[in-house]
Amino acid sequence: MARRTEAHPDNTPGPFFVDRTCIDCGTCYQFAPGIFVDGGDHARVQAQPVEAAARLRASMALVACPVGSIGTDDKAAIAEATKSFPHPLAETVSFCGYTSDKSFGAWSYLIHRPEGNVLVDSPRAAEPLMKNLEALGGVAMLVLSHRDDVADHEAYHDRFGCERIMHRGDGIPGMERLVDGDAPIELAEDLLLIPTPGHTAGSVCLLHRGFLFTGDHLWWNPDKGRLSASKAYNWHSWAQQLDSLEKLLAFDFTWVLPGHGSIHRASSPAAMRTDLEVAIRVLRSL
Ligand code: SF4
Repeated sequence: MARRTEAHPDNTPGPFFVDRTCIDCGTCYQFAPGIFVDGGDHARVQAQPVEAAARLRASMALVACPVGSIGTDDKAAIAEATKSFPHPLAETVSFCGYTSDKSFGAWSYLIHRPEGNVLVDSPRAAEPLMKNLEALGGVAMLVLSHRDDVADHEAYHDRFGCERIMHRGDGIPGMERLVDGDAPIELAEDLLLIPTPGHTAGSVCLLHRGFLFTGDHLWWNPDKGRLSASKAYNWHSWAQQLDSLEKLLAFDFTWVLPGHGSIHRASSPAAMRTDLEVAIRVLRSL
């Protein structure tokens, strides 16, 4: 629970504030940009929301925050915000909100499929989210992009009986399925698991109908205006991560949906390929 007495002094005065417990995961200013911004090593409120839609958005960011660092005196939209995840992003994909401090606020996503819904990485085991997932048909499969973003996977498995899938390179105990090797694996006609070792030994991306879920392998950096990856936050092999980025040039996708960093949508697979080539060129020069 955020405390007004601990609020950062650079918040714009008003009902919403961010306090000193913020871990700067980025969730609030990626989900509600303009209201929240990156204040350096923490988030801050840049503009207090006024319209009902903006107040709901800010309240949803509060709910999504992994460590409860956002507070507000305006409780009007909190009840609705609590019930608003998964939040639709596009077509068959929603953002689960309710990020977990166990994965440093990494984003997880729901793929809505008649054959069975897929959760990509684990959100916090929050009852309002689980109830909504139940109403949406439950979770058939939980694909874990890498070892850092497994959060409350046991709770999701216990509730929905979902098959948990990850690469053996990062394999943690309890998975129903561990995949091996570097070759893409078809989990279903619309789900392709692409091993992309580098950030960790067992990092994978998941491709679903033009949406590429990338974990911590690749994201959009709005400050640099390009796709990016981090040499500083590489836990296994930077050289391998660069090679795994090259590997993605062989696939068609228009969306990059990361665990951390911003979402990117390109106008076409060719435009995304160009964006990726630019990023690889820059990252190889570091
Ligand atoms: S979501 Fe919470 S922890 Fe993450 S940047 Fe915002 S206030 Fe900080």
